[in-house]
Amino acid sequence: MCTKIALFLPLKNSDTTFLIVSFNSIFLVDFLWNYPLYSHLILFSDWIKYILFSLNFNFYRGGTPRPGEISLAHHGVLFLDELPEFDRKVLEVLREPLESGHIHISRAAKQAHFPARFQLIAAMNPCPCGYLGHSNNKCRCTPDAITRYQGKISGPLLDRIDMQVLVQALPQDDLFAPHQSENSSAIQDRVEAAFQRQLLRQGKPNNLLDSKEIDLHCHADSATEHLLRSAMLKLNWSARAYHRVLKVARSIADLANSPSILPAHVAEAIQYRRALREH
Ligand SMILES: [Zn+2]
Repeated sequence: MCTKIALFLPLKNSDTTFLIVSFNSIFLVDFLWNYPLYSHLILFSDWIKYILFSLNFNFYRGGTPRPGEISLAHHGVLFLDELPEFDRKVLEVLREPLESGHIHISRAAKQAHFPARFQLIAAMNPCPCGYLGHSNNKCRCTPDAITRYQGKISGPLLDRIDMQVLVQALPQDDLFAPHQSENSSAIQDRVEAAFQRQLLRQGKPNNLLDSKEIDLHCHADSATEHLLRSAMLKLNWSARAYHRVLKVARSIADLANSPSILPAHVAEAIQYRRALREH
């Protein structure tokens, strides 16, 4: 799944490619530690960047922090399997980069910022045994055990995950039946086209829109707005969740090449927030 998603991501331009290469090199880390100007790097022309990159060899010394997995996944995919098995403190660290696209590290004498705008994909079972909702009815987990297990993912972290999809196990007959699936390159073309529509309309991807820009570019008609507000009340969403659903709906509309957000787009976006804690 993770490999396929990486194929569907929009193509990278030369600036983001440079940054990714940089963060896979430990030599740049010391430069960033002493000169936390990473956000300006992408504004420089290529030759300036390469000079800075070379200078960094002179500044290198041991003992400075290195970017972790989330920075190495910058402009890429971070895949976490068996999400509840991670230490809760580790999972909570994800909240900052999921919101801001960077991670801030404070040590005794110094502070550092690392970019960390990644596509988070996580997988988990619905219960400790993994059979909750399965047609074989093997699950014997108690409601308490299920609540405890799902509760390892905090509400604020879950709030920042835009799409939560329950994937049902395939019936055995379907496993062996011949099936046709869409070619990966065709999907990538659709994603790229939707991405370019976003850049043309607002100069940035939908996920980077702030609340004022959401009002401007994710405007929905009154029927669609009513549908969204009803879901918000019924499902007890936060304002953050409301805005995130609207941005997902905008992306669904872009994939369908629709200039406006229609009720069907919002209804689909709402469904992506209902997988957990509803069994
Ligand atoms: Zn179970």
